[in-house]
Amino acid sequence: GGAAEPPPRLVIDLERLGSVPAEKAGPLARYAATIQSQRGDYNGRVLSIRQDDLRTLAVIYDQSPSVLTEQLITWGVLNPEARRAVSDD
Ligand code: C2E
Ligand code: C2E
Ligand code: C2E
Repeated sequence: GGAAEPPPRLVIDLERLGSVPAEKAGPLARYAATIQSQRGDYNGRVLSIRQDDLRTLAVIYDQSPSVLTEQLITWGVLNPEARRAVSDD
């Protein structure tokens, strides 16, 4: 993409996350709950996360950032614009 383009916002849909089977959603749900706790941000329907957090989550899920991003978008828990965050991998 363009060099001056800002990175996309990464927004986790916490409601959709609640309807993903626990064996898939578990690590992301625990990670999101930790961020909510650290921020004291408990009442949101969505949670904005850091670009670095997507890379950390890819390590946790033992997948490349781009494959994990596609999976999260398929589950409906991550906004499709997030693809642009990993498109240069
Ligand atoms: P920290 O990284 O030392 O950040 C301290 C404070 O700086 C944060 O307090 C927040 O007020 C502000 N801050 C830092 N980076 C950003 C940012 O990218 N955007 C915004 N809007 N503010 C920022 P806060 O929110 O109470 O968070 C406390 C601590 O919780 C953070 O300390 C960090 O260790 C952890 N944390 C919170 N949210 C995240 C997250 O999304 N990802 C990660 N990896 N850690 C987080
Ligand atoms: P936005 O980033 O497009 O977020 C739209 C709305 O999504 C927010 O409205 C809020 O209801 C929800 N939202 C997004 N991320 C989070 C999150 O991590 N936790 C929670 N609890 N809710 C979230 P809101 O709060 O009225 O904010 C409106 C706009 O104000 C945001 O649009 C953003 O442009 C700006 N804004 C709010 N907080 C911050 C911030 O910490 N840093 C920056 N840079 N902008 C912020
Ligand atoms: P945002 O608040 O609009 O911040 C956009 C970008 O500005 C961040 O992308 C980061 O690169 C930079 N930034 C903002 N505040 C700080 C800061 O205090 N310290 C540093 N070193 N950089 C800062 P990033 O990291 O990808 O975060 C994306 C969004 O995730 C943030 O949008 C915010 O909504 C949320 N977020 C990330 N970390 C924290 C945090 O510690 N606390 C809170 N409350 N929100 C966070």
